Amino acid sequence: MTDLILRPGRERSLARRHPWLYDGAIAAVHGRVEPGGTVAVRAADGRFLAWAAYNPQARLAARVWSWREEERVDADLIARRLETAIAYRDRLGLDSDALRLVYGEADGLPGVVVDRYAGVLVLQLTTAGAEAWRDVLVEGLAAHFPTAAIYERSDAEVRALEGLPPRTGPIRGRMPETVTIREAGLKFRVDVVRGHKTGFYLDQRDNRRIVAAHAAGCRVLECFAYTGAFGVHALAAGARSLLSIDSSAEALAQAREHVRLNDLDEGRCEWRTADVFQALRRLREEGRRFDLIVLDPPKFAPTHQHVERAARGYKDVNLNAMQLLAAGGVLATFSCSGGVDAALFRKIVAAAAWDAGVSLRVRAQLTQAADHPVLLAHPEGEYLKGLLLQRLD
Ligand code: SAH
Repeated sequence: MTDLILRPGRERSLARRHPWLYDGAIAAVHGRVEPGGTVAVRAADGRFLAWAAYNPQARLAARVWSWREEERVDADLIARRLETAIAYRDRLGLDSDALRLVYGEADGLPGVVVDRYAGVLVLQLTTAGAEAWRDVLVEGLAAHFPTAAIYERSDAEVRALEGLPPRTGPIRGRMPETVTIREAGLKFRVDVVRGHKTGFYLDQRDNRRIVAAHAAGCRVLECFAYTGAFGVHALAAGARSLLSIDSSAEALAQAREHVRLNDLDEGRCEWRTADVFQALRRLREEGRRFDLIVLDPPKFAPTHQHVERAARGYKDVNLNAMQLLAAGGVLATFSCSGGVDAALFRKIVAAAAWDAGVSLRVRAQLTQAADHPVLLAHPEGEYLKGLLLQRLD
């Protein structure tokens, strides 16, 4: 067995059950281990702390599998964790056949993401530790979902930090030509091969419903629309008009397809392929006003190093959106940047409101859907935050 010995005092975060260990905390490695292999992590005095996957090539060098010394990290443990993760989702009663089945640390499976899109499962592995159990994970998924196709999307950029090349492609079963999912009675086509993330923004499922509840009779502006999920929900809830903006013409073409697929009125829709930052200024010049605005930008700050530039981006886009908001109108604004926490995001949005000269009431604080759970000891898992705001004057 390989032991990983920490420097004195560096066991503190592990002792609080935070599941990550950076290489700077490691004093010595006794024994041999392949990247992704299991090690016993021990304090400087030799005390057992955790079983973890170790990757000597990564700065985030170890990720905890288990806190219990008597537990064995083997195929059984991985299969049990997978079953527990699936059982948790079964009990959520989601109104959708598209959901995240496994979300890394929060399911005791660091580096593993599994998303289900109707009859297709998408597997995404991001760490050497997760790679080591790839076959066990695939077997477990196939046993639970015998008729499902399994497709791999291990192409997240973070793999480079682990020294892993991207890997994508079918693993098992026959991939259907098109994948159609249902969410709250609405249909969406998901491109699991080329779509963003594993194909769809599952994390926003609850927020689409919350936002749509304010859409009846509204002029809706959907910024960073991607394939139009927020807009389609808003139209179905009775929006008077929808203007969707995205820099990708391809994504907007798919959004238009989604309007047709759900028999919604295309005559109420307008599509603009544009940079949102410029488009908002343009809309102001045109004298446009909206009763419901959704701002769902991409990650401006993946880590803390990018926070300052990201803060400027969020402030600018929120300020410009607020100036288009009609009195009584609702703004749903989001950040999925790991480097910007909920408190900072709220400060940035407050600063934007101050500069825009508008009073906004907080109707709700929003976060990722429950199939993307968060460990109390691992706040990094909570990446999506949002505010539902209403203009008073
Ligand atoms: N709201 C979507 C997800 C948005 S993902 C949903 O619920 O499905 C972010 C989107 O922003 C992507 O489609 C990307 O093409 C687009 N994007 C990124 N930067 C942009 C910019 N500066 N202007 C316009 N669109 C942008």
